[in-house]
Amino acid sequence: QNVINAFTQTARSERCAYYGNVTVGRDVTVAELRQAYHAVVLSYGAEDNRVLGIPGENLSGVYSAREFVGWYNGLPENRDLKPDLSCETALILGHGNVALDIARILLSPLSLLRKTDITDGSLAALACSKVKRVWLVGRRGPLQVAFTIKELREMINLPGARPVLNPADFTGLENAVKDVPRPRKRLTELMIKTALEKPGEKMLEAEAAAPREWGLKFQRSPQEVLPTTDGRRARGIRMALTRLEGSGDSAKAVPTGDVEELECGLVLSSIGYRSLPLDPAVPFDTQRGIVPNSSGRVEGVPGLYCSGWVKRGPTGVIITTMNDSFDTAQSVLEDLQVGALDVSTSREGFGAVESILRSRGVRPVSFSDWEKIDAAEVARGKAAGKPREKIVDPQEMLQLIGH
Ligand code: NAP
Repeated sequence: QNVINAFTQTARSERCAYYGNVTVGRDVTVAELRQAYHAVVLSYGAEDNRVLGIPGENLSGVYSAREFVGWYNGLPENRDLKPDLSCETALILGHGNVALDIARILLSPLSLLRKTDITDGSLAALACSKVKRVWLVGRRGPLQVAFTIKELREMINLPGARPVLNPADFTGLENAVKDVPRPRKRLTELMIKTALEKPGEKMLEAEAAAPREWGLKFQRSPQEVLPTTDGRRARGIRMALTRLEGSGDSAKAVPTGDVEELECGLVLSSIGYRSLPLDPAVPFDTQRGIVPNSSGRVEGVPGLYCSGWVKRGPTGVIITTMNDSFDTAQSVLEDLQVGALDVSTSREGFGAVESILRSRGVRPVSFSDWEKIDAAEVARGKAAGKPREKIVDPQEMLQLIGH
């Protein structure tokens, strides 16, 4: 809600103009934007995902976390995903917050989900889901997990879902954790506590009532998604067992030579997002998936800046991205002050872009247009007791604002 408020306040400011439904790189080029403005900031995030690069990755029943999250969050491009939730065991590859988010959605009681802004379509599919067990598999150990404590605690406390952690995975970690930074220490202690907790009577009752379970598996690196006999669907996954070389964050997972197979009908690959190049005029580091920059100044292109995941890579929570934008804004201001940004001649601004868009038949959406869509979504949700019912069809959104 805070984010929505902050964005709305900014968008309504007289010093800010919002133009939606415009695809940069297609409807208008970065070069055209640079002609129209003194400074241009690229802040377009990461709309692709990393791939595993293993056999079977394209079998049906295997989804990227990005598309799965897009599906339950009502992203138009993922509205037709129709994930097959007819199996009992799902496996999520990766130990990040996105992996935990997906596990939570798969195992949450419907009564909880109904009160969120999850789309009606996803809710209906989850209502028929047979998934009752979710494994989150990481290639390294408990000291290298990428998720954070708040998200883990939420998962541990999820009603109707029992955490299954193997105490052996945490042997000796109480000592090892003494010298690590506090957030990592607290996170590890929570995993240890959950793994070692002796179930009291109350807990046993709760466990008996918990029809679903989830767990963390460590030091397993995905090798192949195994197909059903007809070769069409995923039926399981083969993983290489690993040992850790080095310690702490930089420890590397090295295969021991042993493998393990696990049966599962649903595989979600949650190994991180990836930014895409936008326009041939903008340099792009394909290896790191970022626009090469220093403090947000795009290398070799004066007057062009970047911020967020496209600047730093797909890591960090909202506050990280926010601080990142302050850093880029500071660079723009500094360049203005020292004269690195040439503002001696005026630029037309959106007027120039508008005529380009008109000539290409592109009609931008204004912020007040968006507020109409927003109001319609909220009204639709109200009837069902939800914060909003998202409209997932862009044509329907455009109709609603009379485009
Ligand atoms: P992430 O935090 O970078 O986690 C990616 C996971 O995938 C890591 O466990 C990583 O293991 C693993 N991985 C990467 N390549 C792999 C491979 N080839 N084989 C096996 N495992 C592999 O990414 P994310 O979960 O997509 O999250 C992105 C960012 O958004 C994070 O900063 C996250 O905190 C943030 N986020 C925050 C929230 C929230 O605040 N509630 C919610 C969602 C996302 P290694 O460490 O071994 O590479």
